[in-house]
Amino acid sequence: MRCLGATLPKSLNSQVSGRAAIDTERMKFALRADLLDFTHAPAWGSTELDGVRFRPDHWLMVDGKRIAGALPGSQTPGPDWQLHDHRGRLLMPGFIDTHVHSPQLDVIASYGTGLLDWLNKYTFPAEQRYADPQVAHEGAALFLDALLDHGTTLAVVFPTVHKVAAVALFETAAQRGMALVTGKVLMDRNAPPALMDEVAQAELDCEDLIQRYHARGRNRYAVTVRFAATSSREQLAMAGTLCRRHAGVYMQTHVAENADEVRWIAQLFPEARSYLDVYHRHGLLYERAVLAHGIWLDNADRAVLRDTGTQIAHSPTSNLFLGSGLFDWQAAVDTPHRVTLASDVGGGTSLSMQRTIAEAYKVQALRGTRLSAWTALYTATRGAAEALGLAHEIGHLDTGTQADLVLWEWAQGKVAQNRDDIARGAVPGLQMQDLHARVFAWLMLADERNRVGTWVAGRWHKAA
Ligand SMILES: [Zn+2]
Repeated sequence: MRCLGATLPKSLNSQVSGRAAIDTERMKFALRADLLDFTHAPAWGSTELDGVRFRPDHWLMVDGKRIAGALPGSQTPGPDWQLHDHRGRLLMPGFIDTHVHSPQLDVIASYGTGLLDWLNKYTFPAEQRYADPQVAHEGAALFLDALLDHGTTLAVVFPTVHKVAAVALFETAAQRGMALVTGKVLMDRNAPPALMDEVAQAELDCEDLIQRYHARGRNRYAVTVRFAATSSREQLAMAGTLCRRHAGVYMQTHVAENADEVRWIAQLFPEARSYLDVYHRHGLLYERAVLAHGIWLDNADRAVLRDTGTQIAHSPTSNLFLGSGLFDWQAAVDTPHRVTLASDVGGGTSLSMQRTIAEAYKVQALRGTRLSAWTALYTATRGAAEALGLAHEIGHLDTGTQADLVLWEWAQGKVAQNRDDIARGAVPGLQMQDLHARVFAWLMLADERNRVGTWVAGRWHKAA
């Protein structure tokens, strides 16, 4: 039993109507708040309401694990619905983070290095601890609870090379009812011996994990190539074979993050036209492939991304923190190829998708273009679900969708409250601004501290 009344802060508790202790597990309940989601992709650069579905003061009805519909706030659902009145708050589908490393919570915010030195100095030593099943399970619980506490209800996750680290994530996510895409990391060269596998055993491990966890409940497997430098040609070929052999599996890796890395890949694979081409040659680019970064690409690469349906997981806080470069989102739109948004912790500095979006906006500003709140928010919700082939299940508030929901405060603290008051026209003498202005200010100023609650498939997540 999860008692909402017992787990909410006092200020929220007082707003839960009727019964003091409310079980939201496998029950019919309705949440009253401002509902915000998307029906389709907004046009790039537009601040118009194209594709935006804003339903101020509505009830969102949840029957068991799924969304059952919505009603205006004035039309109270019937007596068989438990009512939770959060008027003045914002209810959205959970965020989707398409690239993040679970063991790297241990090295987030590490000083002074670019990508390749950062891997050797901080990341590889930290990842070696995850050979220990206890470390792997404790780390998985810390990481997945942290995602939910930041309002992220689905992530595409890199664990470590250790099979047990992938098992820990799958099992811990299943306990929480949470959707997850992950898989054992493949790396058989250019890494510390304790972090290397070899092709035949790695293939057996992947096959076993796919059989046990892929498409079981809400778990999905991703063939996980760390990056081209740490896999032999034989291992890349094996990874491509796995992708073709198993319907519906994902592929995740990194590409063209850092200029030194790109030069190194060119030395390691002189036969390839480009870094991206290394993956293309091994059959690793297709509509379920998620490639982090994609900063140092040319138009021929972008055309390959378009033609294969591959998505780039743009990771702005990581790119700025490690000094990797400025992602060209405009070129992605012009091609067009798919883009999603990612925290890339621990190269990235926050699991918060609002902070990720705020940094994405600044990256585009440095490139001389503007990222609208609508494109950013769509990309982090329905857009990511579409790109992952999961929009039938998550990413929006359509009836029948899994109830992965996050409730937010519009403002936290006096400065944000003042800005929100102005944006919604509550300050006399100041001209009312539009909804885009309000949501944009929220994205720039909010973070996980604005989160009031998270529901995973209709189940209240108790904060860690
Ligand atoms: Zn990464």
